Amino acid sequence: MMTLLSTIACLLFLANTASACVGYAGLHDHFLPLKGTLAVEQEIPLNAAGYGMSDLGQGAYMITDGIYQTFVLLSTAGVVVVDAPPTIGRNIEYAIGNLTNVPVKWVVYSHMHADHIGAAYLFTNNPCVVTIAQENTAWQLNFTPDPRRPPLAITFKDNYTLVAGNQTLELFFPGPGHDMGNIIIYALKQKILMMVDQVFPGYVPFEYLAEAIYVPGWIKAHDQLLAYDFDVYLGGHMGGPANRTAVELQREYVQDLYDNCFAAIQKSGTDDPAVGLGVIAPIVLQNNVGNSWAEFGVYLDAISELCYNVTSEKWLGKPAGQDIFGYSHAKAMINSLRFDLDVLGPTGVQP
Ligand SMILES: [Zn+2]
Repeated sequence: MMTLLSTIACLLFLANTASACVGYAGLHDHFLPLKGTLAVEQEIPLNAAGYGMSDLGQGAYMITDGIYQTFVLLSTAGVVVVDAPPTIGRNIEYAIGNLTNVPVKWVVYSHMHADHIGAAYLFTNNPCVVTIAQENTAWQLNFTPDPRRPPLAITFKDNYTLVAGNQTLELFFPGPGHDMGNIIIYALKQKILMMVDQVFPGYVPFEYLAEAIYVPGWIKAHDQLLAYDFDVYLGGHMGGPANRTAVELQREYVQDLYDNCFAAIQKSGTDDPAVGLGVIAPIVLQNNVGNSWAEFGVYLDAISELCYNVTSEKWLGKPAGQDIFGYSHAKAMINSLRFDLDVLGPTGVQP
């Protein structure tokens, strides 16, 4: 993953500091600490059972185990549950049971990933429970069936309004990004906005731009979220609920990353000794005759590392995790610029 030069530099660096190296998170590394909670409004203390709950007002609650989140909306006609992460598991049922005697009637899947909806079957054992998701999520779950993520009763293409007694939940499909069928969930009355694996308040995104399957769509979703009138943001991860600032901050980080990776690709078209393709390729091929993967691997790592280093000058340590996942973000952005956006630098059509 690392270039030879960076590996040597990293080993020398490690000898003095015991800090993490670019692109590799070791078992005994010490990473930069969390810097407060940034845009997070409150940290939710966990009880003895291992879950915490935030009362968001007017029947809306967020349940967390400190890493994952479930959104719960109590209504006169039944309870709406958005996502059922396996790590919270049966604590979702216990938490709801402590709030109301009204049964769960709807389970909404934010997207198809098992770490967010892998406990949905706990609710669908009751045949009265209705599952809802975007149609791409239904397609994915039909393609790779999983009894813990039961098939959907209701699917939609662009949007769906769930009227549940005295509560309303608006579901909107912004297009593929993190996943094929990830949706924006909006509680109109409470001004609560939820999109899972999109914004990570207090942290940089999960690795490789949150493993987005289509990075341009994932980037655009920041603006789509900010078009809503909301007071509370739920990202599906970490502790407490966040606010608009969290979304704006991550949009700024991603824009910087985009600009820095774009510049790194452009620089690779020059005779720069660190990233210039025309300079480094002959050196690599000298030691690896005819091995195109060696040539390309070193080249991609070099421009990713440049993008990572420039981005870190502004963002290292605020929010947390740039030293852990920042290099993967640079790699994901470089690949998206090249493949999705035709920013090919020296490997494109030359003048
Ligand atoms: Zn996901």
